Amino acid sequence: MPDRAPSDPVPTAVPDVAPDAGTPGAAVPFWRAKSLAHMNPTEWESLCDGCGRCCLVKLEDEDSGDIAYTDVVCRLFETHSCHCSDYPNRQEQVSDCVRLTPEAVAELSWLPPTCAYRLLDEGKDLPWWHPLVSGSAETVHEAGISVRGKVAGGEQMFGLFELVDHVVSWPLRWPKGSRGTGLPARRTRAAPRPRKPLTGA
Ligand code: SF4
Ligand code: SF4
Repeated sequence: MPDRAPSDPVPTAVPDVAPDAGTPGAAVPFWRAKSLAHMNPTEWESLCDGCGRCCLVKLEDEDSGDIAYTDVVCRLFETHSCHCSDYPNRQEQVSDCVRLTPEAVAELSWLPPTCAYRLLDEGKDLPWWHPLVSGSAETVHEAGISVRGKVAGGEQMFGLFELVDHVVSWPLRWPKGSRGTGLPARRTRAAPRPRKPLTGA
């Protein structure tokens, strides 16, 4: 996770964000103007869309090293708000909660394809539902990107081998209609053998 809870309010004081960045003459928004490594802390934190996908427990195949997502969340995750309940102390509380850095983003193959950090690291733009583009923290939920309504429960509710029954593929997919940078016309496996639960991003 970046240094911000998945759905903390989107910082509004990012000075060089231009929500109308597509307008001729508008300033280029920081996420297009800067590399991840050159962003300031406020810009970096504001990139998190609040989807919560990275807070899903993941299973690593002991033999292949493949990572599979489950629909079970980290014990600190609040399923409706998609907030981390103790974000400032998350790494003391959850030892394998990964702190995202530009270097880590480039290394972590399991980041969801919709994750803003991954998208920018791959040279792509932010999609229409990203709060920095839409101006609303709700669009990540409306577009079906967030984990809201899709979670089976917290990790404290399941044993290690029960997690195998909760392997899901949707965290690695784009929901229908969620691709693209422009606002839509109308908004309206065989399970891997568990090795150890991984949480965080
Ligand atoms: S997957 Fe990426 S954008 Fe979504 S909550 Fe995690 S760090 Fe933020
Ligand atoms: S993985 Fe857990 S500890 Fe880390 S940010 Fe998400 S909810 Fe918080």
